[in-house]
Amino acid sequence: MNAQKLSKRLEKVASFVPRNAIVADIGSDHAYLPCYLVLNNLVTGAIAGEVVKGPYESACHEVQQEGLQKQITVRLANGLQAIEKEDHVTAITIAGMGGPLISSILEKDPERLTGVERLILQPNIHAIAIREWAIQHNWKIIDEAILKEDDKIYEVLVLELGKESLTESQLLLGPVLMQQQNDVFKEKWNREITQWQHVLKALEKAEQSDEIIKKVEELHHRIEMVKEVL
Ligand code: SAM
Repeated sequence: MNAQKLSKRLEKVASFVPRNAIVADIGSDHAYLPCYLVLNNLVTGAIAGEVVKGPYESACHEVQQEGLQKQITVRLANGLQAIEKEDHVTAITIAGMGGPLISSILEKDPERLTGVERLILQPNIHAIAIREWAIQHNWKIIDEAILKEDDKIYEVLVLELGKESLTESQLLLGPVLMQQQNDVFKEKWNREITQWQHVLKALEKAEQSDEIIKKVEELHHRIEMVKEVL
């Protein structure tokens, strides 16, 4: 992967960035995504934010190598603190982290979301944490995608401002993905059911405590809920 040729996962994230946006990519190890967006004239400018020094230096190096210092500002900063008012950011991408970490980044500096019209979020696991954050903070899911790369399955969530309520199964599986039910979606949830069934077997062999009984009930409930959808 490089700034000219993104991974299938980051290419999908890029496809949801509105044309001519000013984008902030948070957690921008190597800055491949902002470089790709600028090189292809898809956005007018970008911020690459990175909290760890090594990846921040890689991002600076990549931007310099591509000669994009005028269009892309790289900042060493924690989460949304990479975004300044004067940047007039209209879209944010956060990719390649767990859902709980992505939602904690969004939760931490809500004032930095002012003026942002779209969030494109790609959690590696626990997308539910983002959907929960979204409904609590008046963002609604306008699109979702699911894809498989190197045997790993990734979800991409696209949020814009607006109110919505989601059912328990929509929160877990994704309102759009549930409707589309493509092959990757079915594979992901069949994999999850198999894994939960393994956990159930182990729990049923363990000494029964209130906590274990509760966990077993929860897993049965989740398995039934997902089976009803598939
Ligand atoms: N976004 C790239 C991608 O999807 O390929 C890089 C993903 S990499 C696994 C996650 C990056 O996010 C790391 O470089 C990590 O240092 C950075 N990161 C984690 N927490 C962060 C935070 N609070 N603020 C900024 N960057 C963060």
